[in-house]
Amino acid sequence: MDSVCPRCHGSQESIVHVFFECPFANIIWRHLSHPLNIDNIPPRLAPEWIELILNPSTHLGLNPQDAHAFTLLAAIACDRIWWSRNKLVFDSSPPASPIDVTADINRSFSAYSNAWKLKMQPTISAWEPPPPGWVKFNFDVAITLSASFPSAIFRDSNRHFISIFTAKESISSLAWAKAKAALLAVSSAANLQLPSIIFEGDAKIVIDSIKAPSSTPFWDLRLIISNIQLLLPYFSQVVFNFCHRASNGLTHSIAFWASFCSTWGPQPISSIPSWVLCEDSDGQVPPLLSLPSVGLPDQ
Ligand SMILES: [Zn+2]
Repeated sequence: MDSVCPRCHGSQESIVHVFFECPFANIIWRHLSHPLNIDNIPPRLAPEWIELILNPSTHLGLNPQDAHAFTLLAAIACDRIWWSRNKLVFDSSPPASPIDVTADINRSFSAYSNAWKLKMQPTISAWEPPPPGWVKFNFDVAITLSASFPSAIFRDSNRHFISIFTAKESISSLAWAKAKAALLAVSSAANLQLPSIIFEGDAKIVIDSIKAPSSTPFWDLRLIISNIQLLLPYFSQVVFNFCHRASNGLTHSIAFWASFCSTWGPQPISSIPSWVLCEDSDGQVPPLLSLPSVGLPDQ
């Protein structure tokens, strides 16, 4: 970035300018569902902005749970500001207004927050460990604007974690992404040479398609389902279970965390933050509290 800002044409296009100082970004931050008045924050370098977003407790005085919410909102805002900048530079489509981009950010934030709140409600069915001698792989996926992040968690009959895997894929449909998560679970289990396995997910269409491949209604699932079928001879006993979304919550949280950090591959349990894992096998999840206004909104 060494040219003039394509948005305001009033300044050099630096990282700090694009995300925070450009009038376009300034309007967005002021109109977020929990606004931030950039003008009230002393000028800082890009690494200092990242530090502020990652540690808002220290820099903005938020309590730890509000700090998580702020970090999420700020990460979504940065993602959308960058995406709309690239649309402006590389697409011939008319540029989105800052108000439209803000509405998109607020919608996404609300969707993520609601997903967390849903998990706070009493669970309809808790995760059940596999019987002794068996292991269970739960699979799920989180989807962002540009990619999907399948996850697979592998636990034994004592509820102990054995392995956690995440992957990064493109996006086709939700069913396609959930099928990719099933393939991640099955291929990971085949590599581990485990004999008796239960695979469990909350996508009924995927589970039904694996059980009866000819019934697959979606053409884009067929190749993934047939790849799963090819791996089944690696197991001496294999079961595919449909489960309620509530009992798949931890797997979804890990997929969400992977999408948030953009990380994929085998994940050591020590690499996963406690706020992700504290949703235990019985569906308990830490609340995401409402975020107070930060700075002085100018509306
Ligand atoms: Zn600008």
